[in-house]
Amino acid sequence: MKPTITIIGAGAIGCLTALTFASHGWNVTLIDRSRLGGEASWAGGGILFPLLPWNYPDEVNEFVFAGTSRYAALCAELRDTTGIDPEYSECGMRIFPEFDARALAWCQAHGIPAELQNETLLLPKVAQARNPRLLAALKARLLALGVTLREHTELLPLQSETRRITAWQSKDGQRFSSDIYVVAAGAWSAPLLGEFAADVPIKPMRGQMLLYKLESPVFTEILYREDFYLVPRRDGHVLAGSTMEDVGFDKSATVEAGEALARKAAALLPALKHAPIVQHWSGLRPGSPDNIPLIGRHAGFDNLYLNTGHFRYGVTMAPVSAERLFEQVAGLN
Ligand SMILES: Cc1cc2nc3c(=O)[nH]c(=O)nc-3n(C[C@H](O)[C@H](O)[C@H](O)COP(=O)(O)OP(=O)(O)OC[C@H]3O[C@@H](n4cnc5c(N)ncnc54)[C@H](O)[C@@H]3O)c2cc1C
Repeated sequence: MKPTITIIGAGAIGCLTALTFASHGWNVTLIDRSRLGGEASWAGGGILFPLLPWNYPDEVNEFVFAGTSRYAALCAELRDTTGIDPEYSECGMRIFPEFDARALAWCQAHGIPAELQNETLLLPKVAQARNPRLLAALKARLLALGVTLREHTELLPLQSETRRITAWQSKDGQRFSSDIYVVAAGAWSAPLLGEFAADVPIKPMRGQMLLYKLESPVFTEILYREDFYLVPRRDGHVLAGSTMEDVGFDKSATVEAGEALARKAAALLPALKHAPIVQHWSGLRPGSPDNIPLIGRHAGFDNLYLNTGHFRYGVTMAPVSAERLFEQVAGLN
């Protein structure tokens, strides 16, 4: 009999975890209290690169780069098997002044192609994917692989009197039983673990984003200045983000943040000054100390694993994070 696994949370992390286990022949159930990919994984920019790597510890950069290295093949496979194109591209990223000699030296020391151009630093290999399309393709792929997807099913905080979980209950009274459970509930991972969340220092960190629509694309590189970025999509849409706010589970999109983002956008790319803003949203990142995710078995249980806390880089880290979890569950390391 195939081993069974229940994954709670169908963001990028839950989806890639489901894909990895299903590809290894497991019987996978993927549960989300709303729709697949409706939270942070949808809200993000799809930049597959740290912002900026010379400000992060090696552990974060290595993890992000490992994730990035999987993306071209992952997106090609998703496109070929589902017909939905996640629009992966090595579009490059141009960093506007304020970068220091340290940045260029860091790139040279770490083998990241970089060139100085007109007082900007161009990183030509930085890539992006388009989140909503990536998630739609993942959904189609998971269903084709036979994953059982249960959307609109909210699991209650964990209750168990033994080290082995035998069932996890949903708000509407269903009981989910399996050999292994994985918490991939992003910013909501601690409340989901309830009284067993003591060693899980994950908290929501809000990020707001604006979406512009230009009649046709006027630039192709990601533009970056002072922790603010513009991400051009192929069809003239441009994302402008984002904020970093410690406001609990409040998912409002605020007028002040919207105005601040619009000011920065127009300053970085004057063509946006009069371009229509077609959407303004916020998402809750699963914040973790030093941006280091929790991947592995929960100390209190024999059959409960965590894959959460990816903070600013969960979309990028997702493929390699899923592989690492699989290796642990399968006893490969
Ligand atoms: C504005 C913004 C910009 C970002 N930009 C980037 C970027 O450019 N590149 C990058 O790599 N990352 C980026 N990120 C970070 C990235 O989006 C997150 O790290 C990543 O989405 C986390 O994925 P996740 O699957 O853990 O969480 P989520 O996508 O939030 O998924 C968690 C899921 O769990 C479900 N859930 C919660 N509680 C329950 C429950 N009780 N029962 C059932 N289901 C439950 C939720 O409904 C949700 O669908 C950005 C984030 C934001 C907000």
